[in-house]
Amino acid sequence: MSKPIVRFAPSPTGRIHIGNARTALLNALFARREGGVFVLRFDDTDLERSKREYADAIETDLAWLGIPPNIVVRQSERFALYDDAAERLRMAGRLYACYETAEELEFRRKRLLARGLPPIYDRAGLKLTDDDRVKLEAEGRRPHWRFKLDHETVTWQDLVRGECHVDCASLSDPVLVREDGTYLYTLPSIVDDIDLKITHVIRGEDHVTNTAVQIQIFEALGGNPPVFGHHNLLTTLSGEGLSKRLGHLSLAGLREAGLEPQAASSLAVLVGTAESVRPVASLDDLARLIDFAHISRAPAKFDEHELDQLNAKLVHEMPYEAVKDRLETLDADGGEAFWLAVRTNLTKVSEAAPWWNVVRGPVNPVIEDRAFVDAAAELLPPAPWDATTWKTWTEAVKARTGQKGKALFMPLRLALTGLDHGPELAALLPLIGPERASARLAGRAA
Ligand code: GLU
Repeated sequence: MSKPIVRFAPSPTGRIHIGNARTALLNALFARREGGVFVLRFDDTDLERSKREYADAIETDLAWLGIPPNIVVRQSERFALYDDAAERLRMAGRLYACYETAEELEFRRKRLLARGLPPIYDRAGLKLTDDDRVKLEAEGRRPHWRFKLDHETVTWQDLVRGECHVDCASLSDPVLVREDGTYLYTLPSIVDDIDLKITHVIRGEDHVTNTAVQIQIFEALGGNPPVFGHHNLLTTLSGEGLSKRLGHLSLAGLREAGLEPQAASSLAVLVGTAESVRPVASLDDLARLIDFAHISRAPAKFDEHELDQLNAKLVHEMPYEAVKDRLETLDADGGEAFWLAVRTNLTKVSEAAPWWNVVRGPVNPVIEDRAFVDAAAELLPPAPWDATTWKTWTEAVKARTGQKGKALFMPLRLALTGLDHGPELAALLPLIGPERASARLAGRAA
């Protein structure tokens, strides 16, 4: 296969969510695996709704996921190309002017449906003479422009869905240019796919029905249609589609909640495929798991709580170097030994901060049995302390007091940390150190 060139083509009209991340990751990781190019194309021809701040935020989100694009293009800067393509289609007789109002079209649609006929546009625009057009325009009407479909069956090999056929005789000629001269999504998308030499269009299955039409337009413009792959869409557990309304599932929301990008990317790529959903820390490894032919045809239902579980599993394995800077920012950089002591107790990296406070203090000790804790304090081994100190100490306390199991460990935990749960004390004790440990066992905040 020659090197793929793929694109992720969001409209910058809001924050992107985890379902959009699925499309972006499938494209970017496929390109990465095959040594190809990943283009970020902003579909911002709708100048009213598109915002530069959303576009910038999308770039931030992709960078957070670890898939910055190789190239960024903005459709708002490329209108000349679209005008030129529209003109070429007009000259070739494939783009024709239509003057119906939305109400007229709706009326005709209803009439066809009432007669049990498919509501296909009747191509009235094609039958207009020059005189008719002059008259209509004199009445103040402005044309919208439709692409004249060839009435034949279009077939393509979809990477996900296998062989697909659409009989274009069953479709209305699509509108490419509105009355006010603005473009619908279709034509600019194809012009850019040709211009940027896109080899694979990987996108959500909500675009399947557009594909046959798009293949005809590619051909009418003298372009080679790319390979298409339409992946299933993510839905919530109740089957609700994701929308930009679901702010908490926006990538920014997940980032702000302190989730690891790899938790989001593992879920976004693996859910609804033949692979089990599991944490994959390296994007190269995740890229190797992409297999378009084994993406399910059914919507991919995903459980938000799964994100937390994936995140926890990732955090439990994270090496110190990977979190050092963030621990510093949290004012919780207790060094490698601290990180290794606490990481398996965390769901998110930020939860390390309270444990660093437990180590560093001050902690208000909880002492329920004064005599027991006094006996334990007397038996604290001399410095220096290491990973064996806890065992040496608790064996001595056990021998002296006769306590074992929970009755032995819980009073020591409560005195040393002020809490009844937490990371292994064998790992925490050397970090707390003899001075603070003695003070806490004596009942002093330290
Ligand atoms: N802007 C379109 C969308 O977000 C792009 C579709 C495509 O990939 O062709 O749905």
